[in-house]
Formats: sequence, structure tokens, C-alpha cells
Amino acid sequence: MTRAGIVAVVGKPNAGKSTLLNRIIGQKLSITSPKPQSTRDRILGIHTTEHAQLIMADTPGLLAPQYALQRAMRGAALSALAEADVIAYLVEATEMDPPTLEEAAELESRPRAPVITVCNKIDALSPRALKRRKAARPSDVFISARTGEGIPALIEQLSALLPESPFLYPADEIGAQSMRFFASELVRETTLEQLQDEVPYSVACEIEEFREEQQPVYIRAVIYVERDSQKGILIGDKGARVRDIGRSARIKIERLVGSPVYLDLWVKVLPNWRRNEGSLKRFGYTLPEDHTP
Ligand code: GDP
Ligand code: MG
Repeated sequence: MTRAGIVAVVGKPNAGKSTLLNRIIGQKLSITSPKPQSTRDRILGIHTTEHAQLIMADTPGLLAPQYALQRAMRGAALSALAEADVIAYLVEATEMDPPTLEEAAELESRPRAPVITVCNKIDALSPRALKRRKAARPSDVFISARTGEGIPALIEQLSALLPESPFLYPADEIGAQSMRFFASELVRETTLEQLQDEVPYSVACEIEEFREEQQPVYIRAVIYVERDSQKGILIGDKGARVRDIGRSARIKIERLVGSPVYLDLWVKVLPNWRRNEGSLKRFGYTLPEDHTP
């Protein structure tokens, strides 16, 4: 008998959702960052054990949307909640009194799927503090996505709540999106690593060409920003910064595709794309039907 289904990983920005997904999948599929709001879309990773297949949906953090991109992000999180067979609601162990999922997501009713509250970042607590947290919240699962502590037990608990079903993907599959998508995310992550302040929110990435049949694999990628000044920052002195970004991003993409890559990287300006529905669509972000936040 096998079980299979969708595990939605939800929670506030920076709770460690993407780190958890990568930890369970064992690959850098979802980008992570100390800067909040790095995950913009629902990311699907697949983890198959002997008896269960967990289709893990990483989601953007739950927050009140202020512009079109954030509406798309909230929409992605809510639709993952609606589709889930099990919900892993991530909170930070350092937070004394975390809100319930309904409060954090401003839901009107409890979601259909069972919810496991997962207390992440236990590595940041002293053993004494951790003991007290565990006593205060006996039904939570305590983990560290960073060190891997508690992850096998979490996988067991999630698996047990999945419906009986044959596997839905081949057992060796780890991602349910294209290499093209993951490559664009890795370029975006590398860009975020090198930027300060407000610029990260203005960055989008598009893969214009991805030729896998040749060696090295040829990828032409464009980083879009919203203003000329941001373009200047990204390009850097005589192109130094964009070259650095290109080099680090190439190494990450090579690890993912498992072969040498030639990354041809460009920077362009698309004014105010975050507020423009046409531009959002072009970058693959879907706005929810209902436009009220
Ligand atoms: P997300 O916004 O929920 O997807 O959070 P990320 O996965 O991008 O992580 C946000 C930040 O928290 C990053 O700097 C991570 O390195 C850090 N982080 C994630 N998991 C842990 C953990 O278990 N322990 C500690 N100390 N930090 C963590
Ligand atoms: Mg994330």
C-alpha cells in the first residue's frame, strides 16, 4: 500500500519554508534568502520514500498584498492551501506565541486538509528553552531545516496523513517544473545575494533561450529591474557585478543540470513591472481571479 499527495508548506515570510523544501528534496530547488519575499510562486518538489510520495508545494509567505505581484504571491499560497492533502504550517521556534494558520493567512474558515504546525529553527534555541517550548506546544513538530534535526520524523508524520494512492510521479523525479524555471530562479537568487535594500523586490528573471542539446548547455538569461538606476547598480563598475552574478549563478545551474553551462547574462529595464498585470503574466505569475486582496 502506498500513499501520495500534496503537502503545502505555508507560513509567514522567512519562517524557513524554502529551506525546508530543499532539505527534504536534498537539492536546491527553491531559492532561499535572509531577505523576506524571495519565493514568489508555488514551487513543487517531489520526495519519494519506500511507501509514500510527498509532492511538496513551497509557497510565498503569507502577507497582506500591496501591489499586483504580491496579490499573485498571496494567490499562489492560497491555491496551494486549497489543493493540499496535508498542510505543514511553519512557525519560528523563537516566536513565543505564533498565530494560528487561520490568523496568519486571514482565512475565514479552517482549511479542508489536516494541518501540522511545524516549529522551525530549533537550532537557534538553548536546550532549556527548547524543552520549555516543547512542553508548551505538545502537538507541534520541532525541526531545524538548517541542520536537518527532526526532519525524518516530520516526513513520517506528513506521509501518514496522505491519502492512499499510487505514486503520481516517477520515483526518481525531484521537481515538477522545468529546468528553465529552476535556472531562472537560481539567477534571481544569486542577484538577491548581491543586492541591498529595495532593489531585490524589483528583480525578475527570464530565460530567453535554453539549449540543452549542446555542450556546454547554452542559456541566455535576462535580469529585469524597474529603473535605470537599478540597472546601473546591477551592472556595476565596468560590468564587474553582473559578471560576478553570472559566474555564481552558472555554478549553481551546473549543479542542477549536471553538465557544463554557458550563461549569457543581460540586464534590462522594464518600468514598474511589479504593478503591471501584463508584465506579471509574462514572467509567469498568475493573478487570482478575484482582485480584492
Ligand atoms: P521562507 O521565506 O519561509 O522561504 O524562508 P527561507 O527558507 O528563505 O529562510 C529564511 C531565512 O531563515 C534564511 O536566512 C535561512 O537560512 C534561515 N533559516 C531557515 N531555516 C532555518 C533553521 O532551521 N535555523 C536557522 N537558524 N535559520 C534558518
Ligand atoms: Mg521561500
